[in-house]
Amino acid sequence: MPGLPSLFLLLVNLVFFALYGAASSWAADTEKPYSVTAERLVNADAEPGNWLSHGRTYSEQRYSPLDQVDLSNVNKLGLDWYFDLNDHNVVEATPLVIDGIMYVTEAMGTVFALNAKTGEKVWYFDPEVPPETLVKACCQPVNRGVATANGKIFVGTLDGRLIALDAKSGTKVWEQITTDPTQAYTITGAPRVVKNRVLIGNAGAEYDVRGYVSAYDADTGEMDWRFYTIPGDPSRGFENDAMRAAAETWTGEWWKIGGGGTVWDAIVYDPELDLLYIGTGNGTPWNHAIRSPDGGDNLYLSSIVALRPDTGEYVWHYQTTPAETWDFTATQPIILADIEIEGVMRKVLMQAPKNGFFYVLDRSTGDLISAEPFAKINWASHVDLVTGRPVERPGMRPVDETRVYIEPGPGGAHNWDPMAFSPITGLVYIPTVDSRFIWQKDEEFQYTSGLWNLGYDISIPFDYPAVGTEQRSRSYLLAWDPVTQRQAWRSDGIGSGVLATAGGLVFRGTGDGRFVAYKADTGEEVWSSYVQNRGVGGPISYAIGEDQYVAIALGRGAATMRKDVVPYPADVPHANRVVAFKLGGNAALPDYIYTPQELRAPPVEEINIETAAVGRKVFHRYCFACHGREARGNRIQPDIRFSDYLDNGFWDDVVMDGILSGVGMVSFADAMSPELSEAIRQYVIMEAQKPVNSSFKQDAGPVQ
Ligand code: CA
Repeated sequence: MPGLPSLFLLLVNLVFFALYGAASSWAADTEKPYSVTAERLVNADAEPGNWLSHGRTYSEQRYSPLDQVDLSNVNKLGLDWYFDLNDHNVVEATPLVIDGIMYVTEAMGTVFALNAKTGEKVWYFDPEVPPETLVKACCQPVNRGVATANGKIFVGTLDGRLIALDAKSGTKVWEQITTDPTQAYTITGAPRVVKNRVLIGNAGAEYDVRGYVSAYDADTGEMDWRFYTIPGDPSRGFENDAMRAAAETWTGEWWKIGGGGTVWDAIVYDPELDLLYIGTGNGTPWNHAIRSPDGGDNLYLSSIVALRPDTGEYVWHYQTTPAETWDFTATQPIILADIEIEGVMRKVLMQAPKNGFFYVLDRSTGDLISAEPFAKINWASHVDLVTGRPVERPGMRPVDETRVYIEPGPGGAHNWDPMAFSPITGLVYIPTVDSRFIWQKDEEFQYTSGLWNLGYDISIPFDYPAVGTEQRSRSYLLAWDPVTQRQAWRSDGIGSGVLATAGGLVFRGTGDGRFVAYKADTGEEVWSSYVQNRGVGGPISYAIGEDQYVAIALGRGAATMRKDVVPYPADVPHANRVVAFKLGGNAALPDYIYTPQELRAPPVEEINIETAAVGRKVFHRYCFACHGREARGNRIQPDIRFSDYLDNGFWDDVVMDGILSGVGMVSFADAMSPELSEAIRQYVIMEAQKPVNSSFKQDAGPVQ
């Protein structure tokens, strides 16, 4: 006969089973924590209480089957706990939740383990990335999260290491250097675990690298295989037939500047077909006419490539943008789903890459099923369903000094921001931007080792065509029907990645500092909570005990919600934090207290206009990625218009001698002469002398 306490527990468990079904399997078994097996990863959908991998399950739909929070009660959703993160950079992470513990990363690859019920810290790991690495991060240092297997947590660090941590204690188990430290590689993406292998890509295609994805043994850290996405120097032989075939589509001496094609985000696995899908990045240099001067599609840039997960062997590819020249990566999130198209159930792969077309592919063959524009685009009229190729409009390639106006811009119609798919509504929810850019070939382009190599002059004024407000850059959450390839609804405003739930809801953070729920089928806003920060990464949902939680790691960098000029963002209360909501939650965030910083007066020096013009061009090659277009700052690194170094006599000590390399400002002596350094100084003073209030106009969001 069971005693009273165990009878009580039995009843609790029965109620729990009734409420959550399969979710209770993890909660009832306290021996299980920290031991996520390959089998659990394959069957992750049967554990709705957990969020075991980047997109929750291998399909990466970011759909939670939890339905405790629904349309009838979402108004009772309240903050249950929050946890303040350490650093002041952008937070792009999607947290994992494994058996009651949440794992979340910060920009350099630091990891927090938190009690997912209370928000209390369990452990913290700092890989101690050298600050000098910052110059290799094209678009701010970021990290999109961890992966797990066999009691370990895997994280990629900004400086190219893959580290295995003990999930319980946070102590390091093994570490591998996955990239050549002498080159401009970084890691920003989340690893994935497939059949006891840890898969990791890298970034750096704005610099001079060759992209690849690597597989490491989850237990030992030994490298198992590596797949390069583009061919190397043919005289040194090809790694495989796929590289030999790809080399036929390149001309010139592309390998000297790397070629690009980095796998910096999407790595998705289908256990049923046993295929691995990777998304590849743009070419290096960006300008195709410089990269591959006699033409060619440049495989496998801007492509989805299917590989054998056991060997890394090539199976098929689909190239979204042949002869890519506008930074149109296809690294964007990939979602796998089985959907009915024209009466037939199809195993599809869906992607909304930067180029503005929404692609539905047959994921067993790579055949194109459909592709339609989901945002404003002007570079192509349509995708030919017979050839599978986009039909480019004439005059869209910036091959000479002519300025070419292109929609979308290099930030893309959709970037890395996690999109979600609801099997209930059949809709894909895409963080979308109608963006634009003006391209002009850099006639004076010369390769610079280890720094940006675009082949375009992006210092030119962005004198966009004088058109109505309709064509202004704008962001929105788009609900897209992948069967009809049409918009179902949209909600205006910039925001974070997206979560869809079985409660008929879609969640995202918004640019005005709220966490918002929408009715999944109509887009009606049904709930929001002010969270003091603009969410960027992907929200998640999980369950502990009887409660469904909805959580997001927030952080658009240091000075997220400031509208005024912030010269030293590191000094601003940054409010990068994880927030977790549940029904009846009644916690409160601390007050956000900000004292405006004093702006120093601009130097009174007289500027040589011609020298400053030279400085403007050099600034927009080497400096703007951190210090903002037209030196407007980026709200994360210091706004150098207000720097004392402009006129205190130590400018060259910083720029040429690298005395501030300890905070990431390395020496640029290899890239420029003292004359060019002085030209940049004069240019920045010129910008500093302009009225401050007219200056803050850009949204320097991460591009990558
Ligand atoms: Ca890029």
